[in-house]
Amino acid sequence: METQDLERLVRPNILSMRPYSTARDECEGRPEIFLDANESPYGNGFNRYPDPHQKQLKEAVARIKGTSPDHIFLGNGSDEAIDLAYRIFCRPGIDNAVSITPTYGMYGVAAACNDTEFRTVPLREDFSLDEEALLAAADANTKLLFICSPNNPTGNRFPTWQLTRIISSFNGIVVLDEAYIDFSSEEGLLPMLGSFPNLIILQTFSKAWGMAGLRVGMAFASPFIIRLFSNVKYPYNINGLTQEIVLKRIETSGPETGPVIRERERVSRVLAECPGILKVYPSEANFILVKCRDPKGLYRKLLDNGVIVRDRSGIPGCEGCLRITIGTGPENDRMLHTVTSACGRENREEASSSGQEGESRNSTVFRETSETGIAAMMDLDGKGPSFISTGIGFFDHMLEQIARHSGISMLVYAKGDLNVDEHHTIEDVGIVLGKALAKALGSKIGIERYGFVLPMDESEASVLIDLGGRTDFRWDAEFKRERIGDMPTEMFSHFFKSLAESACCNLHVSATGENEHHKIEGIFKAFARALKMAVAHDRFPYSIPSSKGVL
Ligand code: PMP
Repeated sequence: METQDLERLVRPNILSMRPYSTARDECEGRPEIFLDANESPYGNGFNRYPDPHQKQLKEAVARIKGTSPDHIFLGNGSDEAIDLAYRIFCRPGIDNAVSITPTYGMYGVAAACNDTEFRTVPLREDFSLDEEALLAAADANTKLLFICSPNNPTGNRFPTWQLTRIISSFNGIVVLDEAYIDFSSEEGLLPMLGSFPNLIILQTFSKAWGMAGLRVGMAFASPFIIRLFSNVKYPYNINGLTQEIVLKRIETSGPETGPVIRERERVSRVLAECPGILKVYPSEANFILVKCRDPKGLYRKLLDNGVIVRDRSGIPGCEGCLRITIGTGPENDRMLHTVTSACGRENREEASSSGQEGESRNSTVFRETSETGIAAMMDLDGKGPSFISTGIGFFDHMLEQIARHSGISMLVYAKGDLNVDEHHTIEDVGIVLGKALAKALGSKIGIERYGFVLPMDESEASVLIDLGGRTDFRWDAEFKRERIGDMPTEMFSHFFKSLAESACCNLHVSATGENEHHKIEGIFKAFARALKMAVAHDRFPYSIPSSKGVL
């Protein structure tokens, strides 16, 4: 598209207008006394108007984005750029804009403000883009096409090949909103800006840069379009303090995405295991969309526990969905605890009625008391993810040894009264894991039943296990230290005892050694190895590995 073609898209009044210019724009000298702008002469840090062109800030943005200042517009949030796009291109009452649905609500709001018809094309059920339908919704008066990628609230990113095809076949302006691109696994389209004169890319300092309160959004486009934005905006749309702070921030650090992305994956994994959560949609943003069995009920429970999420269940295409922003680890923990306990209650009945879970040898157990709330999932054949979070670092480390060395996938999420003591949490995790093991074993048909190991590490640890159904627990290991890491050593035997009793198995543990850490790690690994042997499928065709014919 050539500049003259672009000109045809612009409202004639905007194309012909003379923009406001300040006395300082018009002057060529180096004035020292400013009697031009009716400001207060008394210096307080803010008595002068800020730079209307945000020269320094744009240079810094250009540097980090690999572009030049004449390709950049800075607005009061990217919301300002959305509104200005309508004001520049859409003749009120005549032109229209097209977008997808569901998507970010401000495209429609700004259309309404600017008396512009807003047409939407539904995403497919898997949230993919129906390119043909999108282009077919446009007519000769369609000036703007809004696409948000990664999309809010669905969280998915549209493939670059599809976006570039749409941009090159559309005869108007494509506004590609990349507010969440920093959280995505792929780069956005900014490096291709030069190839598409009809493209405006929106990004923001509100998300990955953590500066939503300062209100700075970016639009990247051809110098022709950027000039139009500059002509139409309020002269001093970014205040001086904001310019200063954002500039300093760019010079000293970058966007913060790593921990959010890691938390997003963790939260997604845990939520995916909750029976009340029907679907966790994959996300390339800093939020996830989840389809819930009872979205209103869950929303209410979260709110009662002080957690607000976005209820999107009333939006076509998002029926049953809540949108959950990724917070800090502890914030996500609190949200997850509410969700898992809400789902646990809902699931308890189901779990007992479904009983044996058949060939798949997996189980899910929820347990909630006034002291702890615990969710555990186990897959004896290692088909699921493993994730452990109990709030006790050393205990997590030991449980991870069980998962790793047994080949059993284990998901354990526990929130206990650690402010009181570790006792309840450790004991209850043992109980829940024992239950999960028993439930996953089901009828025990075809299993090895016995497991044992011989000395491991420099410490000698041996664990004997019999999954036959009788319960006998023996412990022969002493610890000189009161704690290892943040775990009391007296709780090691208590954990295994709780597990053995609730799994109904014989468990004999003994260990000797000098190094306390190695000794207990040896016990957990030996337990894992013994368990691995005992749950394995027996290569001999006993249906039940007992002379009694039952276990
Ligand atoms: N685009 C999208 C897709 C958004 O979700 C948001 C805000 N939630 C914005 C733009 C607006 O961001 P800003 O804070 O830069 O106005």
